[in-house]
Amino acid sequence: MLKPAPGVSRLRPYEQGQRAIEGMENPTKLSANESSHGPSPAALAAYREAVGQINRYPDGSQAELRRAIGEVHGLDPERIVCGNGSDELILLMARAYLQPGDDFLISENSFEMVRIHCLAQGGNPVVAPEREWRIDVQALIDSATEKSRLCVIANPNNPTGTYMTGQELRRLRSGLPPDCLLVIDGAYAEYVDRKDYDSGASLVDAGGNTVMTRTFSKIHGLASLRIGWAYCPPNVVDTVQRIRTPFNTNGPALVAAAAAIRDTGHVDRARRHNSAWLLRIADAIAAMGLTMAPSVANFYLIRFPKESGRSGAGAAAFLIQRGIIPRPAAANDELLRITVGLDHENEAVLAALADYMGQEEPAAPVSAASQPAQGAQ
Ligand SMILES: *Cc1c(COP(=O)(O)O)cnc(C)c1O
Repeated sequence: MLKPAPGVSRLRPYEQGQRAIEGMENPTKLSANESSHGPSPAALAAYREAVGQINRYPDGSQAELRRAIGEVHGLDPERIVCGNGSDELILLMARAYLQPGDDFLISENSFEMVRIHCLAQGGNPVVAPEREWRIDVQALIDSATEKSRLCVIANPNNPTGTYMTGQELRRLRSGLPPDCLLVIDGAYAEYVDRKDYDSGASLVDAGGNTVMTRTFSKIHGLASLRIGWAYCPPNVVDTVQRIRTPFNTNGPALVAAAAAIRDTGHVDRARRHNSAWLLRIADAIAAMGLTMAPSVANFYLIRFPKESGRSGAGAAAFLIQRGIIPRPAAANDELLRITVGLDHENEAVLAALADYMGQEEPAAPVSAASQPAQGAQ
C-alpha cells in the first residue's frame, strides 16, 4: 500500500480565509492582512514589462532582487536568498535542519504553515504558552530541549499583532541551544514604528544560527506573486542553496519585487496610514467595551467576552452582511482578526462593530453549530 511519510499523514491542509461573499461584487476583503494600498506603481510597471519574457526561464541566481534588497536594507546580497513567498523559505529551513524525531519550538500563537512544514519533516511540536497575547521569551527558553533544532517565531506575531523588543529577541537567542536555528519571521516588520523593535538582522550577523525572513506579500502589496526573502549567515545560505529549486521565484515577481522595495515612499505612506489607523481603531474598540491586543502590524485581534453575549463568529457574520470579510479564529470563538484597510473601509468596520455591539439581541451567527447554546445575560 502506498503511504505518505509519517509526518505527512497526520497533517490537515492549510485553510485559507474567506475570499468572497456569495452574491456580492467587490466585498471589502480584510481577512488576509493584504495591503489595501496595493503595490507600488513602479512594481506594476515592472511586472507588465516582464510579461513579454515569460517564455524564458527567470534568473535562477535572483541577482537583481538580492541587489535591490541589499541596497535598501544595507545588507550583503550574498547572504540573501529569495523564495516562493517567505512560506517557502520556512519550508526550506525545516527541510535543511529538522530530522524525524527532532523537536521544533513555536509559540502558542504562530503561523499555521510553520507547523505544517515541520510536522511534514517528522518534527515534534513543542508549544510555549503566551502571556497576555505576547510571546513569552522565558517560556520558549524553558520549553527548549536538547532535541530542539528549530524555533520559528513571527515578530510581530500573527494573529495577535504584538511584538518582542530587540532586547527580548537577544535574550531568546542567547537562551536557546546554539544548535537550534532561530527563524525570525518578519512578515510585518515594515509596519512597526517602535524604537525598541529590532527586525533581527543584527542577530543574524552576530552568529551562525539565526535567520530573518521577510515577504513582499504584506506592505509591498504583492501577495499573489509569491515572493519573499531570507537574510542568513553564510553557512545557512550555503545549505539552503543546495536544496532550493533553481527557479523557485518567477521572473515577473523578481522584477516587480525589486521595483517595490526601491519605492520607499510607497512603503512609508502605507506605514503612516497604518500607524494612524491603529491608534484610532484601538480607541474605538475600547469605547465599545471590547479588548484588543496591542497591535503594531496591519491587523488587529478583538476579543468578544462570553459574558457580553457577543462572539467573534457573531461579529464576523454581522460584518459579512455588510460586505466586509474578517478572519474569525478557527479555535477560539471569542476572537476576530481584521486587517487595517483604506479610510472608508475602516470606518465601515468600526460602524458595523458598534452596531453589532449595540444590538439588543445579537442575531444568531450563520454557523449555529459552533455557537454556545445561550449567551449569558
Ligand atoms: C502573511 C504571513 C507571512 C507571509 O507569507 P508569504 O508566504 O510570504 O506570503 C509569513 N508569516 C506570517 C506570520 C504571516 O502572517
